[in-house]
Parts: sequence; structure tokens; C-alpha cells
Amino acid sequence: MLNIILFGPPGSGKGTQSEKLIAKYGLKHLSTGDLLRNEIAAKTPLGIEAKNFMDKGQLVPDEVVIGMISSALEANPLAKGFLFDGFPRTEAQSIALDNLLQFKHTQIDIFLSLEVNEEELVKRLLNRGLTSGRSDDTNEEVIRARIIEYENKTSVVADYYKKFNKVAAIKGEGSVEEIFALLCNEIDKRLS
Ligand code: ADP
Repeated sequence: MLNIILFGPPGSGKGTQSEKLIAKYGLKHLSTGDLLRNEIAAKTPLGIEAKNFMDKGQLVPDEVVIGMISSALEANPLAKGFLFDGFPRTEAQSIALDNLLQFKHTQIDIFLSLEVNEEELVKRLLNRGLTSGRSDDTNEEVIRARIIEYENKTSVVADYYKKFNKVAAIKGEGSVEEIFALLCNEIDKRLS
């Protein structure tokens, strides 16, 4: 199996690069943001609970997203590997993911961290908000809250994977193709 975490702040390009990576490496894409938005659209109790946090730019409670990822792993027993996008976002989520993967006799192979400066992030997210239909992208205050939440709670997740020598940092500024090439290069280095 090949299991990848694509990491980075909101607006760093995880969604765009995920689509290209899953196509190239034949992986199953697991985006907690997408899974949560599906729950909201279906008006499930989980979706209704999650929306309160997401509308404020706050993280959804760990047990909610961990449960969602656990179900998604179980639902895809034949996957060649997984690309985790937007997960894990806290150390508790990282530990839970390690345990879930261990249960499947597999592990994270690489943690790819996209690095983009804050003003560029805000610009990209406001721009995405014009067409994405995502309410959390149209309000600059909510965007800034998401970036602060990232700095306070999520950026430490990289330290967790550094302990296991799994982190590759990539400059997330440049063309989509240039960044994709840098990501593939890091993956291929570890595969060989
Ligand atoms: P972005 O990274 O661009 O902000 P996402 O689609 O990954 O967008 O996530 C949107 C929102 O969903 C986040 O702001 C957060 O409220 C919630 N969310 C997504 N993934 C997680 C997670 N792993 N843990 C907690 N909350 C999450």
C-alpha cells in the first residue's frame, strides 16, 4: 500500500494536488472537509453538529472526524492506498490514524507539507469563494479564523511525523504543474 498525508494550511492547494496525485498513484482520496460537507448536504445529525464549528472557522471535534475516517477506511478494503487530505489536523487525530492503519497492517509512508505565506492564502481563499459555493470562503474573518486555528492546533501535527522522519516540505507557490512535480519527486524518492 501507499499511504500519503497531504498537509498544509487552508488554501495551500491540497484539494487541487490531491486530484492529480490520486489519478497518478491510484489512491483513494479521503478528504475530511469533503466528507463533512457531504454530511451537511444530507442533513445528517453529524452534519448538523459539524456545521456549527465549520461556519465559525473552528475545527470539528476529534471524535467526529476520527469516526468518519474509520468508517471510510472500512468501506474501502480493496484500496491500493489512501491519500489523506485535511486529516489529521490534531495530534489526537494523528495517533488515532496510526492505530487505525496498524489495525490494517499498514502505515503512513510520507507526510507532504505544502508551505504558502498567509497573504497568498487569504487571496486564494477569497478568490475560491467567488465560485466554490463554500460559505467559509466568502468571509475574510472566517478565513483568518481558520488560519489561526491551523497555526494553534494543526501546525504541530508536522512535528509528530518529523519524529518518524516522514516529513517532506514543499513550496506551495508556483504553477500547479510545478508543485505537482515537486510532490511526485518526493513520493518517488521514497518508493524507490
Ligand atoms: P480548508 O483546509 O480549505 O479550510 P477543508 O475542506 O479541509 O478546508 O475543511 C473545512 C472545514 O472542515 C475546516 O475549517 C474544519 O472546520 C472542518 N474540518 C475538516 N477536516 C477536519 C479535521 N480533520 N478535524 C477537524 N475539523 C475538520
